[in-house]
This record gives sequence, structure tokens and C-alpha cells, in this order.
Amino acid sequence: MSILQLGNDSIQINGIRVSTIIGVLEQERISEQPIQIDLKLEIDLSESSLTDELDDTANYGSVTEQVYKVAKESKDLLLERLAQRVADEVLSFQKVLAVDVTITKLRPPIPVDVSSTSVHIWRKQSTESNLVNSSSAVIALGSNIGDRMSYLRFACDSFDRKLKISSIYETEAIGGPTDQDSYLNLVISVETSLDPHALLRKCQRIESGAARQRTVRWGPRTLDVDILFYEGCQISSELLTIPHPRIEERRFVLTPLSEIHPELCPPNWNEELPPEEIKLFGRIDE
Ligand code: ATP
Ligand code: MG
Ligand code: MG
Repeated sequence: MSILQLGNDSIQINGIRVSTIIGVLEQERISEQPIQIDLKLEIDLSESSLTDELDDTANYGSVTEQVYKVAKESKDLLLERLAQRVADEVLSFQKVLAVDVTITKLRPPIPVDVSSTSVHIWRKQSTESNLVNSSSAVIALGSNIGDRMSYLRFACDSFDRKLKISSIYETEAIGGPTDQDSYLNLVISVETSLDPHALLRKCQRIESGAARQRTVRWGPRTLDVDILFYEGCQISSELLTIPHPRIEERRFVLTPLSEIHPELCPPNWNEELPPEEIKLFGRIDE
């Protein structure tokens, strides 16, 4: 438990320039305009200043990349909405305790001579007592390379508000190359303040943290982190489908899912799916 008081240590990332759609004016909806994002991440640097390890701090390269993506893709009307999205994205990095976000329109298209307009917000990590806009999501984790349990533990530890954790099951690989090692799978449910796309980016960052390589479809992986459900949401976009489209054909998903959320499983799935072997392997905290 850190004894750090908020506001002591920080990482500052200044001058992230993005050309994007933002604003309510007609021309702002058609043409991109330049904005600048400045960030101050409040973060306990006492560990990384001793260990010199990237894992003990927030990687400002990845923070910058993710924030750039959010600003490029969001197309909001108001700077404050974008500032909130940026804050949510930065707070999804585990070590960040709070963040100060300033977003500036560098050439505001208004008829008065003004050099820039900006908004500034400060947001801190949600705690159980200040969760306002949080939702629950159900996530499937799988691994079939290397120290599978460590990868699964790493993924679980990356979500700090877990609601339920299933047992871990072992199955032979289904689909993809035939010579793969067997999988360990489990399902967790979490409370999150991220929107579904930000949650997907967080899942992908966790996979990258486990050095996941994508070479062949359904190929072997250190870690797969898939969103199965997100409270009250059905999404079918190029990047994200929720509920996950292949839940109903996967015993390795339905078996752990039925332990923690039987209401989310289709009726009679157990009798209707082909009888593949699935072995109870243990629990993440054993
Ligand atoms: P499967 O989706 O069949 O389980 P996979 O997990 O091996 O396959 P990945 O390589 O991990 O597939 O992801 C491929 C793409 O799936 C990702 O780039 C992501 O954008 C997309 N995707 C769509 N819906 C989801 C979802 N619900 N959860 C995670 N990724 C998703
Ligand atoms: Mg998957
Ligand atoms: Mg996946």
C-alpha cells in the first residue's frame, strides 16, 4: 500500500498535437482542426526511481499513443467530453492515480481574434465509494504458451475491481494450427469506468504486456483477453462485437461462464455442444 499523497510525483506529457474533428460549428464537423493535449499523470514514482523498471511506472510512450488514438477517433462536439475520454484512457493505465488534462484548440474558428481556447480537468482513479459511471463487464482469459498461470494472473491483476472469478479449465486447442499446446481458460467479471472501446484497448494493452504476437488466426498465444459482455451494450463495429460472437460454440468459455454467470449462458448449452474434454485445473489464487 502506497503512502504517497496525491500530487507528489508526476509524469508530464506536453504538446501532443492531433488534427481531428472537434466542435459544434458546421465547418468543425467537416474539417479537422489542430488541438494540443497536455497531461500531468500523478503516479507514485518511488518504486521505479529505485528499480529502473518500466513495469513499475506508466509507459509514457504507450500513454501518448493511446491518447492520440482517442483524440483522433472520438469526433466529439465539446472539448470537455474529449478531455473526459482522455482522462478515462490515461486512468486505465494501472499505476496512474490521477490525471490533469488540458486540451487546447490551437486555431479556434470563431470571428473574434483569439489565440487559443482550452479546457482543463482533473480526474482521479475511481474507488468503491466514488464510482459514478461504472459498468460491469465479463471478460474471458486464455493462454497456451509458456507459463500459462503467470500470464493469467498478470491479466487478472490488471483489473482492480473484480466482481467474480471462475475456476480455471484446461482444454485442447480448437481451431487454428493443429500442433498447439492445450489452453487454460477462465472468465472474470469486473466493474469498469471505461467505455467498451476503451476497455477493448485496455485488454489489448494487457495482451501486449504479455508479449502476445499475432501471426496466424487462432494461433498459440501467451494471453488472449476477450470481452464477452458489457452491461447493457450490444455493439457491432469493425473493431468490437459485444456480446462476443463465438460464446455459444465454445465449451471453454461457457463452462467457466456458467460458474459465475449462469444467467448469461444459453439454455441447454451443455447438452447441445459436442462433448469435448474439459478438465478443472484449479483457481487463480492457488
Ligand atoms: P476470437 O475472437 O475468435 O476469440 P481471438 O481472440 O484469437 O479470436 P484476437 O486476435 O484476440 O482474436 O482479436 C482479433 C480482433 O477481434 C481484435 O483486433 C479486436 O478488435 C476484435 N474483437 C472484436 N470483438 C471483440 C471482443 N468482444 N473482445 C475482444 N476482441 C474483439
Ligand atoms: Mg479469443
Ligand atoms: Mg482475442
